[in-house]
Amino acid sequence: MDSGNQQGVEPTALAHGAQKNGEHEPLAQAVKTYNTRDGWTLHRFASATGFSCTRCKKRKKAKLVATQDGSLGNLYCNGCYGQHLSIA
Ligand SMILES: [Zn+2]
Repeated sequence: MDSGNQQGVEPTALAHGAQKNGEHEPLAQAVKTYNTRDGWTLHRFASATGFSCTRCKKRKKAKLVATQDGSLGNLYCNGCYGQHLSIA
């Protein structure tokens, strides 16, 4: 009889993607999502997130990030978000 009850240590696949300074981070960290207005949605993060605004091409670091048509590939700063709404 072999009671091979081996409780091996499972390989910890903890991929800690914690990045220190403002690299591109997924929108999964959004703590609040505002109503979509004219195709643009504004998200608020718990902490400032670094990204490049698709519209004004500026490197931003902010808690507020906007997306267009639900696409997470393109991120916009809240400045461009406000501008978009004002001229819409
Ligand atoms: Zn912008």
